[in-house]
Order: sequence, then structure tokens, then C-alpha cells
Amino acid sequence: MYTEKVFYKDSYLTTISAHVISCGTDENGLYVILDKTIAHPKGGGQPSDRGYIELEEERFPILDVVEDDGMVRHYIKTERKIEDFKDKDVILIIDWKYRLRNMQYHTALHILWRSTINVLKNPELVSSAITEKNGYLVFKYEKAISKDELKEIENLTNKVISENRNVKIRWYDPSEYPGWKVDPITNKVRAIEIEDWDITPCGGTHVLHTAEIRLVRVIDLEKMKKGVFKLKILAGNDAIATSLAHEEKYLALRKEVSTDDIVGYLKKITSDLESCKKELLGYQFEFKYNELRTKLDDFKVSGYYVIFEKMDIDPNALRNLTKRLTSEYENTIAVLVTTKPKIVVVGSKSRNIKNEKINMREIVAEISKKLGGGAGGDKFFATGGGKSIDKVDIALKEARDKITQVIS
Ligand SMILES: [Zn+2]
Repeated sequence: MYTEKVFYKDSYLTTISAHVISCGTDENGLYVILDKTIAHPKGGGQPSDRGYIELEEERFPILDVVEDDGMVRHYIKTERKIEDFKDKDVILIIDWKYRLRNMQYHTALHILWRSTINVLKNPELVSSAITEKNGYLVFKYEKAISKDELKEIENLTNKVISENRNVKIRWYDPSEYPGWKVDPITNKVRAIEIEDWDITPCGGTHVLHTAEIRLVRVIDLEKMKKGVFKLKILAGNDAIATSLAHEEKYLALRKEVSTDDIVGYLKKITSDLESCKKELLGYQFEFKYNELRTKLDDFKVSGYYVIFEKMDIDPNALRNLTKRLTSEYENTIAVLVTTKPKIVVVGSKSRNIKNEKINMREIVAEISKKLGGGAGGDKFFATGGGKSIDKVDIALKEARDKITQVIS
């Protein structure tokens, strides 16, 4: 005996009376098998239905629905002994909101796949699924997929939806669809036909008219590996709610900037910001340079200028500053450190300093090591980094003391 899948003929039934033909326990829990069901068991990318089994006016939530060799197991949550259900008449009620969402997504994925075939030419379907967040198709395709092609796939799908085409359930002799699942009760292959668009063998639940899907939005094309793509969509309420939320944000933004060309506006702002940043870095550099220059005598040790300073400026400005100081002034040893956005240590010495003990790579490496980082460069110029901001002052002081000893 098999469970009659009433949803095969009518996906809109939300309540049905059925008879328990078997019940039991397995590794997934307690289950009942009914003579007929409207609950879709998980499979073919469609999740199992949610709902209740009602016995003697008591409701037991359905936890999972699984088909096993033509029998549909309804796993339920119950404190009662599962034997209580044996040979009883029960009422099965499914969560209609959840079912409708699955029907919308499922039918949408059929339309989407045909649109994909029409636009891309010869993609190969791997799988499809409906999740809590979205619906998706996984397919093989050897070429790159452009934004225009994606848009065309979405447009075609929505065109078929808006034309409100009929979605019909067809039954075929297994010889017409060899290799496809044959229904054990009818000995036929079940297929879903979307009027003048697509016909695909399928055991899932679908809407009767395409307009019931309402809207499809392509949200992502993920390249899973070479030649394998995952095309994600939103359908039904998910698509509408997301589109409305986007529109609301867009309108608020447009009000803020008083232009329809928001992309152009953002590009201009970004480019303005970039030039402001450059200008600011220039000022920052000049300011710091003049500041150091005016107090140069404070850095004098035994005929050298020993400048070991921490200053929070851009790393590029820091590099230029160190180089400029040591090229404009002879006998200058400069080690400058910035901590924003991260620790950068830059060391440089004037070209006239021949003392081999004053090796910038070694000095910067020693400081960087204390800060938990490394360094690179040569005896005249080196850069380094690190992580321990709290150790910058002491590391600089120790390095300065060491150099002072060398030159005194
Ligand atoms: Zn289907």
C-alpha cells in the first residue's frame, strides 16, 4: 500500500481527513503513515511542509515529512504513545503561508530555468533548492555570464509571470521520460507544464497561474567553482518586500541629494573626496615638515640630528617626510612612527653618514621586533611595522638611546 499524494492533483488543499495505516519510531523520531496526504515530503529542492496532525481534537506539530518507497512518513511532536495513532482517522492541516511560498518559489524556479536556457544556450542543470532566505539553481556553464544576460533572464522570467500563463499538471507514460521518477500509484511520470514555455517532470507543488508568483528578483550569481554557478532569486512576498524596501531607501536618498542621477552623484562625491584627501595629505606633510624643521636644534646630539618621533599621519606622508629630512639635512638620522591606520615605522639617514654602525635596516628591525612585527630595507632607508601600539614610545626611546651611545 502506498500513500496517495493528494497534492499531486491539488496543491491548494490545506486540510484533509486521512487514515493512519502505519506508525512507529525510527532514528528521526515518531512518525505516522497516512493513506493519503497533502503534506509535501522534502525532495526535488522543495522542503517538507509544516503543519499539524489532529487526533481526537488534539494537535501535534509536524516536524518533518519524508517519503520512503511510496509511503510518506509524517514525523510529529507528541507526548502520547505513537501506538495511540494506530488505525485512527486524523485530520492533516498544513501551514498554508509556508506552502504558498514554496509553490511560488518552485514555479518561479521552473520559469527561471527555461529563461536561463533561452538566454545562455546550453547550460546544464545540477540542482535547485528553496531555503528560508531564497531560491536557487545550480548549473554548469563554461562561459562567463554578463550583467546584461542576468538582467535578460530576470526580465524574461517576470514577463512570463505577468502574462499569467496556466501551469498544468501532466501525466506521461514512463517511456516518454525515461529515467524519471514513476509514481507507484498511477505508474506514470508527473510533469509540470507552463503554458507555451516549459515542461519538466516534477513531483513538487506549484501555483496554477504564473501571476501568483507576483515577482522574481535575481539577487546573486555566485561562481561556486570553474564552470559551476549558483543563481539566487527572491520570489513572491520576499521579492516584493525587498524591492519596496530598496525603493524606499532610494526615494529617501533622492530627496537628500535632489537628483535622479544618484550613481553619478556618488561618483562625483567619491572623486571630490579623493582630491580633498590628497590635498589634506599635502598640508599634513608640509605642516609636520615645518614643525620638525623649526625645532631641529632640539634634536642635536654630537653633531648629528637624531629625530625619533611618533606622529599620527598618513604612512605615505611619513615616508616622504623621513626621506626629505634626511636628504635636505646632512648628519640626520630620522625614525618616524605612525599608528594610524596601523603601525608603520620608517627610518632614514643622510647619505653623508658613513658610520656602518648606523644601519637603518637594523634600527627599524629592532624597533619593529619590539612592536611584534618585521622590517625591510637597507642601511640608508628601511620600513617596518608591528601590532603593539602601547610599546611604540618605549621602543623609540630605547632605539634613540642606543644611537646616542654610538655617536657620542
Ligand atoms: Zn516543480
